[in-house]
Amino acid sequence: MYGDKKYNNLNYYLREKFGEKVYKLSIDAGFTCPNRDGKISTKGCIFCNERGAGDFTGNRGDSIYKQAKDQIEMIKKKSDAKKYIIYFQNFTNTYDTPEKLEELYNTALRIENVVGISIATRADCLSDGVIDILRKLNDKTELWIEIGLQTVNDITAVKINRGYNLDIFEKRYNELKKYNIKVVIHLIANLLEETKYDFLKSIEYISSKKVFGLKIHMLYITKDSPLFKYYTEKPFYIMNMNEYSDLIVESLKILDKEIVIHRLTGDPNQENLFLPEWTLNKKGVLNLINKKINQYL
Ligand code: SF4
Repeated sequence: MYGDKKYNNLNYYLREKFGEKVYKLSIDAGFTCPNRDGKISTKGCIFCNERGAGDFTGNRGDSIYKQAKDQIEMIKKKSDAKKYIIYFQNFTNTYDTPEKLEELYNTALRIENVVGISIATRADCLSDGVIDILRKLNDKTELWIEIGLQTVNDITAVKINRGYNLDIFEKRYNELKKYNIKVVIHLIANLLEETKYDFLKSIEYISSKKVFGLKIHMLYITKDSPLFKYYTEKPFYIMNMNEYSDLIVESLKILDKEIVIHRLTGDPNQENLFLPEWTLNKKGVLNLINKKINQYL
């Protein structure tokens, strides 16, 4: 057992490492993304919206210090939180010069009671210069690099306009691994026409790479993403909550047990969500998943 769960989970990992619950502060540091600003494409990934895959972060215009302070204040109203991880969430958080990135990350580390940094990015935005910065940062703090891979299928990757192939991921991942930098992979279930077997292939691959962490969520179609248009013109099958929870259990059965599960369901913005509505019931989805895990894992 990993705390109260049958699978290795983030809360358990953090409690073991830091001796208590650690809270994530979601920061919008004002980045953009090469898949949106024209360097690779102007369209972005098909499911991405104007906020660059981060609907619940701090205010883009505010300093990271203010965003962190505001969130700490909110968290403290409900808990006796003492330790935090800064999560650079929106867009591509390594999309700048190594010098500027180093300054930004070090600023985050100076915020009181911050014990780690998590950086969301793309595999093709991890140049040697950036990895050199990350290598130094990794010696100083708990560091996670979160890569929105979503699928290992290169045909789907073209359909979703991810903008790079698995080969690029593999090369950059191996570089990070060489320096023992922890990598968290994001995968999406039901990615357009992908079946559950396609998803399990992604899980098998991630498992074989022995990544540090994994985040999974069901595909959700938001009204402000290109996916909305795609779906209305070319509808595809969308799993129900029962099918999704079964798929999660199957995934955990084949996943390397050391991989830390950071998330098993998503958090869509209610105002923008088109489908599937059941993803709004986060608690219900997690309860069903945990019930099935307790029964079948
Ligand atoms: S890489 Fe991230 S920010 Fe860029 S388009 Fe894709 S989902 Fe959006």
